[in-house]
Amino acid sequence: MKDLFEIIEKPQNFPYCPGCGHTSIDMALARAIFELNLEKKDVLIVSDIGCVGLVDKLFNVHTLHTLHGRSTAIASGVKMVDEVLFDNQLKTIVMIGDGGATIGLLHLVESAKLNVDITVLVHNNFLYGMTGGQHSGLTPKEFKTSTTIRGNPFEALRIIDILKNSGASFYARTFSQDPDLKDIIKEAISHRGFSVIEILELCTGYATRYNDIKGNDLKIILENSGGKIKEKIERESFGLLYKSKFFDKKSEFEFTEIEAERKINLKNPIKIVIAGSAGEGVQLASSLLCISAILGGLNSTQKNDNPVTVGSGFSVSEIIIKDGDIKYTGIEEPDYLIITSMDGLKRVKGFIERSKNIIIDESLTDNKNFIRVPARKYIKLRGGPTYFSLGVLFGKFNPFDFELYEKAILKYGKAKDETLTCFREGLNFGRKL
Ligand code: SF4
Repeated sequence: MKDLFEIIEKPQNFPYCPGCGHTSIDMALARAIFELNLEKKDVLIVSDIGCVGLVDKLFNVHTLHTLHGRSTAIASGVKMVDEVLFDNQLKTIVMIGDGGATIGLLHLVESAKLNVDITVLVHNNFLYGMTGGQHSGLTPKEFKTSTTIRGNPFEALRIIDILKNSGASFYARTFSQDPDLKDIIKEAISHRGFSVIEILELCTGYATRYNDIKGNDLKIILENSGGKIKEKIERESFGLLYKSKFFDKKSEFEFTEIEAERKINLKNPIKIVIAGSAGEGVQLASSLLCISAILGGLNSTQKNDNPVTVGSGFSVSEIIIKDGDIKYTGIEEPDYLIITSMDGLKRVKGFIERSKNIIIDESLTDNKNFIRVPARKYIKLRGGPTYFSLGVLFGKFNPFDFELYEKAILKYGKAKDETLTCFREGLNFGRKL
């Protein structure tokens, strides 16, 4: 016993009300950890809000006290990391009461679905003990609580059925005085995958105040509500599945390395804002502009802006090209502002006063200070207005070698023939301005 008390405090030191079922469950858990010969450093107890949360200081293992209902989610995260990135030695045990189980129900469902390798002990005492004995989702029908003083009119949530149907690979249901409780907990902890035990227990602070009930009645309540259950299903845990399917596999989002083909001499940074409509190639054309700069040995950044509905409304890109480090990706005063649609115009109105050169579709303004171009004439071609306008920029201002932009289109673009045609039309248009 001396060794057991290295894992847990003596029962007389427990903070619960005399006769509270939490004490029996803590003792069963301590014995299970002890008999499994687990290293204290390999055990994590994650607790929730409620009297059950007082468990933290009782166990001499790792403990983590969480927000109400979030213990399962946090425990799942810790175990996923241990399983995928570390040595998969950690035994993660969640201690929740009626509140943690019902408030955190979706976390339980998700964790069961993923079959995360954690063990959840649901301390079901049929009410919320810490806050005054109110009824919970787990309160049985006709059971009296401080808020159902004439008896609960509803059936209790069958939490084990919910988690079984969500994919739990080990599920059990018993009561706190069950002599088998320690062994069931041992089995649950040893199981590789999501394990849950619903343990019916008595809140001597409130349940006995409102109901004619004693500890021995728990067995009857258990029998009358589906009986003792213990089932195990072999199913790959989340971590093992993740490792076999994704870990160490090449990501589809790998960075593309772009090698510079030459070195452009650029005295000052170039700041370009392109504003148009969603689906008209603004962001891709801007990316190609960045790539063309990199092909020329320069650095570039792109900052995109669009509404939450990515397929409608405005689409704006801010591009900075510089021979040197770019430490801030925003643009205050664009050297070039390209506006290809009314959506874009509305979005970048604030830039107009601050832009040195403005290339705009001719249908949007009569202002002779702007470079008015027939960009929307190319609307039927993929990204037509955007690529045409960029062609105008290169044709009129020649910020750097236009051939690099054409190379970027040919190597990384989409609908290359159409976009190249629009760019070249714009280039010719710009050269004549
Ligand atoms: S109030 Fe109820 S649940 Fe809380 S410690 Fe007392 S008996 Fe246990």
